[in-house]
Amino acid sequence: MIITEAVAGIREKILKAALRSGRNPDEIRLMGVSKFHGINEIEEAWQQGGIRLFGESRVQEAADKFAGFSAGHPGTELHLIGSLQRNKAKAACALFDCIQSVDREALITGLGDLTAHQDRPLGILLELHTGEETKTGFPDEDSLCRAVEQVLSYPGLALRGLMTMAPYTDDERIIRASFRALAGARNRLEARFPDCDWSCLSMGMSSDFEIAIEEGSTIIRIGTALFGERRT
Ligand SMILES: *Cc1c(COP(=O)(O)O)cnc(C)c1O
Repeated sequence: MIITEAVAGIREKILKAALRSGRNPDEIRLMGVSKFHGINEIEEAWQQGGIRLFGESRVQEAADKFAGFSAGHPGTELHLIGSLQRNKAKAACALFDCIQSVDREALITGLGDLTAHQDRPLGILLELHTGEETKTGFPDEDSLCRAVEQVLSYPGLALRGLMTMAPYTDDERIIRASFRALAGARNRLEARFPDCDWSCLSMGMSSDFEIAIEEGSTIIRIGTALFGERRT
């Protein structure tokens, strides 16, 4: 019941943030970040909360929970949001619909080779580094451009957009600048690669998703505000 109420509260905030910024709330997807939470909580979020998109940070943990879940819950979409090591890439291709945390060229090569004969293309979001404290992500737009060209050269990879994490700070200006940088990068890449799908702008977590929506987010990644504190 607690998760169900949390979903209602978050959807209300999504609606308000969208209206305030002149956006259509239907273009904003709520991802349940279920890392460190169990299958019962995921089940409740799916059944009562209507959540269909889930995010996990680790391949093995995601496999343990979702390998059995997705078959009995049609319409479930699972994204990897944590860093991916080369030795887990094969398992990740089999399990996830999309890898949001693609942050280096060597990873694109690995994923491209692994998905060459996969029927279902693997969704790819390129992660841009937009904040001082976070370390992951491509460092600038030149490196993003090269990454786009590289993704396009693999038939098993489907580019869907960009992802970022704002720095951990209370300073709203810094957070907003980080999200604005991602939206700006998306706009410039879209002008340069107009035939690509740029529909996913994955930004915003429990503490900053309303700012992210005001800056154009289309996927907010919510853990704590949905499932409560993580048991680590
Ligand atoms: C854990 C995590 C989230 C969710 O964070 P909350 O603050 O609990 O909502 C979102 N994005 C990424 C990349 C994460 O690792």
